Amino acid sequence: MAGPGAYMADGTEGITRVEDLPKPKVVRRSRNFSRRPCPNCGHSCYRKRTFERTLHDVGDLVSGRPRNIQLTYSQHYCCKCKRYFNADMSDLALPKSHYTHRVVTLAVRLVVEDGLPYRAASWHLWRDHRVFVPYATIQNWVEAGGKKGRAARRRTISGRRTG
Ligand SMILES: [Zn+2]
Repeated sequence: MAGPGAYMADGTEGITRVEDLPKPKVVRRSRNFSRRPCPNCGHSCYRKRTFERTLHDVGDLVSGRPRNIQLTYSQHYCCKCKRYFNADMSDLALPKSHYTHRVVTLAVRLVVEDGLPYRAASWHLWRDHRVFVPYATIQNWVEAGGKKGRAARRRTISGRRTG
């Protein structure tokens, strides 16, 4: 891993205002369908409306710009179950998350496997991957991962806490 001297090579060093940071590159993705099977009963259901959400992805290192995914998705209504559901987008991100799976996996790995403190992991993600994640968010991810019970992950975390 690069030492502290490598920090000086960062073009954003010393920038303190978010609006001065490089503008994100926006990539459009669609999970927008006219019909989808109900996840509960399998009935084919028409689209009621569409929504958009923004996901922060791992950035583009060549241009040094962050990368946002602008995701359009459809919401459907099952007349049998009398409930709404969204088109499946679980391949990209967890529900309500502002970050893609790629970012979450990377962040958790930096803390759990590489042993970086949360703040250092946050800085590393920005410096090397051009994605800004507050360190408290990384902490939430790591703790949520621990609860799901991956043995190796739990050992690492508890080992650091007691040691
Ligand atoms: Zn249904």
